[in-house]
Amino acid sequence: MGKVLIIGAGGVGTVVAHKVAQHPEVFSEIMLASRTKSKCDDIAAAIGGNRIQTASVDAENVPELVKLLNSFKPELVINVALPYQDLTIMDACLEAGVNYLDTANYEPKEEAKFEYKWQWAYQDKFKEAGLTAILGCGFDPGVTSVYTAYAAKHHFDEIQYLDIVDCNAGDHGKAFATNFNPEINIREVTQRGKYWENGQWVETEPHEIHKPLNYPEIGPKESYVIYHEELESLVKNYPTLKRARFWMTFGLEYLTHLRVIQNIGMARIDPVIYNGVEIVPIQFLKAVLPNPGDLGENYKGWTSIGCRIRGIKDGTEKTYYVYNNCSHEAAYKETGTQGVSYTTGVPAMIGAMMFMKGLWKNPGVFNVEEFNPDPFMEALNLYGLPWHEVHNGDLEL
Ligand code: NDP
Repeated sequence: MGKVLIIGAGGVGTVVAHKVAQHPEVFSEIMLASRTKSKCDDIAAAIGGNRIQTASVDAENVPELVKLLNSFKPELVINVALPYQDLTIMDACLEAGVNYLDTANYEPKEEAKFEYKWQWAYQDKFKEAGLTAILGCGFDPGVTSVYTAYAAKHHFDEIQYLDIVDCNAGDHGKAFATNFNPEINIREVTQRGKYWENGQWVETEPHEIHKPLNYPEIGPKESYVIYHEELESLVKNYPTLKRARFWMTFGLEYLTHLRVIQNIGMARIDPVIYNGVEIVPIQFLKAVLPNPGDLGENYKGWTSIGCRIRGIKDGTEKTYYVYNNCSHEAAYKETGTQGVSYTTGVPAMIGAMMFMKGLWKNPGVFNVEEFNPDPFMEALNLYGLPWHEVHNGDLEL
């Protein structure tokens, strides 16, 4: 049992707050803090029962964070603000002696390049302080990394080919919207493609490699190879991998909008002067796009995310597919948010629960596949993201 501080009150923060509040036997006291306190207050009111305290904090200001941590004294911070704030929150955790968990790796604002190197550099500091930092505990990264660890532990002697497949077959009824923070999302999906093959990274043009893949209960969807952050830690932690790729589905309409946004300069991350004021086009774009947190009400359909793995067991080649299908409508009914926020927020709560129960507690900085996958997999079935397995099916890859 212990206190937890959630930072970030967007779509994902809403789900984390709801799910953490459902477990008073694990999370004795909860505080939700973000830049805009009124958003925290609205979430706390929707949950009710005086379960959640709220506060305002600028997560880029270390002294402000340390002050909040020292006054509330949580065991763990769940960081579901933006990737830009990862390092300041980790610094504050070290100063105040608090453990740390996040769902997305650090990315500098001025360069659309996410990498673990900045956070892995905190390894010795967390170890010396006797504190645990759990990195990438959403769905992807997060559940996909735990799926891989579970497959390697129980179903293979050697995993050789990993394809993470992420399908959103939902329809929110808008011409264009992103499912999580638009700035972070557009920076991610417009970068060059990259995958791991035979000991090295292979780069592609954005969305160059694509093919239809069949998703359970959904059918065929055009899927594109993009670079995704869990590939970096998975190829390091599973050196037997000969190839590791990440596929994401996009509709033609979405890709057309994305191309136009890029072509007219609205995806730019460098400041431009407009009417004498400095603005960053992609940040301005975020202000006019639908808020991902508000998409839930009319969202229909499913997400389907999983790992398709080929490798060796007892001297023979086998395949394994493990996945979850999540209904946008069911997610909305439970938490008032759509499926992408839900599939990110539930694993963040489960990771926090693993830490609180002492199951994932080890001084240092860790990616989730470095912990025991079994209790996490069990919790996914109990708390809203049940998974399914297919042995020796056709992976299509
Ligand atoms: P939103 O933009 O909806 O929410 C972000 C929240 O962080 C907002 O409440 C925002 O405050 C707050 N915030 C931003 N800057 C600061 C700051 N300086 N200080 C304090 N609070 C701040 O994002 P999402 O909820 O969609 O995503 C949250 C995180 O989850 C992101 O890091 C995203 O990359 C990650 N993610 C991970 C996934 C995974 O599977 N691993 C999938 C999807 C998302 P304000 O309201 O004032 O703007």
